[in-house]
Amino acid sequence: MQPDSKRCGPLKLLAHWCGVLLAAALVAGCAGPRIDAHTHRAVSHDSRAQFLILHYTAVDLATSIRILTQQRVSSHYLVTDEQPPRIYRLVDEDRRAWHAGISAWDGHAMLNGNSIGIEIVNLGYRSGTDGRPTDFQPYSPEQVELVVELVRDIVKRHQIRPDRVLGHSDIAPQRKIDPGPLFPWKRLADEGLVTWPKPDDVRQAQALYATAVPPVQWFQQALAKHGFLVAQHGELDEPTRRVVAAFQMKYRPARYDGQPDAETAALLTALTGLRHQAKAP
Ligand SMILES: [Zn+2]
Repeated sequence: MQPDSKRCGPLKLLAHWCGVLLAAALVAGCAGPRIDAHTHRAVSHDSRAQFLILHYTAVDLATSIRILTQQRVSSHYLVTDEQPPRIYRLVDEDRRAWHAGISAWDGHAMLNGNSIGIEIVNLGYRSGTDGRPTDFQPYSPEQVELVVELVRDIVKRHQIRPDRVLGHSDIAPQRKIDPGPLFPWKRLADEGLVTWPKPDDVRQAQALYATAVPPVQWFQQALAKHGFLVAQHGELDEPTRRVVAAFQMKYRPARYDGQPDAETAALLTALTGLRHQAKAP
């Protein structure tokens, strides 16, 4: 049976005028210059996200969610420590999340503006008797796999370079040590997601420094070439030690005492190509 259009005439008319009014309201709401976004398109552009920064939250899941959603700090993603872990997106990738703070890498400063931030729920460390961080909490294998998957996806979509997938401790070594020495950087490196030195290059360089460790000035130069913001005064002061420790935490996590040594020098040479030649006696 066909519906009787005449019988619901007034209702149809009402719907028609409602539609017209709605359309008019939408047009009025979108007031602005008319832009043709299709006729001409530029070939030169890239993602605003140039860096990917990894963190741990240092607090439990419930507190992490509360702080990252309610306070003046945030991240694009939060990887939980549940079994199995989950990923929450807290901030859209085209918006700035407030995770990096005062930060610098390779001449770029204040990295909130051009980075994506991932927070991982992990309690971090407890302070030892000497006040230094100790007993870092391990990341679960499931958490690691999920982080690797997330990093791989973000890096691919935004074409982020391996030397720009970094820890908070890289970009703010004076204030931060997350994601800590137990973060599996090597696992990310095996996936081609993070810059890593070639073992042969490290061995070769280590032989070069077996008899004499390069001076502090050289370390500061090499650390700066690698990307760190570090003063170039040749003194092994506390800020320099923190930068050395941040580097060691990532590339030589077995010992991150901030002391410049032959192995650290060899890793820096393998990564930067910068060699120190001892002067002939
Ligand atoms: Zn952090």
